[in-house]
Amino acid sequence: MGRKYVECHEQDFPGAPKCTARFSSDSDDELLEMAVRHGMNIHGHANTESYREKVRGEFRNGSTP
Ligand SMILES: [Zn+2]
Repeated sequence: MGRKYVECHEQDFPGAPKCTARFSSDSDDELLEMAVRHGMNIHGHANTESYREKVRGEFRNGSTP
C-alpha cells in the first residue's frame, strides 16, 4: 500500500470560495478519519456511512501535489 491523499473542494454555499484543504497519510483509515473530521468540523457533515463512502471514493494515490 502507498501514500494517498484527498482534497476537500467543498463549497459551503453558492458563491463561496471552495475549500482547498488537503490531507495525506500512509494509512487509509487515518486519512478517512482526518477527512471526515474536517468535513464534520468545518462543513457540518454528519458522520454517516454514506458520507464516509463518499470521502473514501475521493482518495487519490500519491502525495499532495
Ligand atoms: Zn473543507
